[in-house]
Amino acid sequence: MVDRELTCKACEGTGMLADDEGWQYNCSVCRGKGVLSPNETNQSAEIMSVDDNNRLLD
Ligand SMILES: [Zn+2]
Repeated sequence: MVDRELTCKACEGTGMLADDEGWQYNCSVCRGKGVLSPNETNQSAEIMSVDDNNRLLD
């Protein structure tokens, strides 16, 4: 069975992300909830592509 809520892969369910300098901020993918509802998963796919662009800058 598929859970209605999925653990956010970006923040691994913590709801928080930290940048390279250690600053923490609410996860932009799940908005700090740590989980994604199925319709939010579609939105996160777009955000994840942005993350890929950010990684290219590193
Ligand atoms: Zn998240």
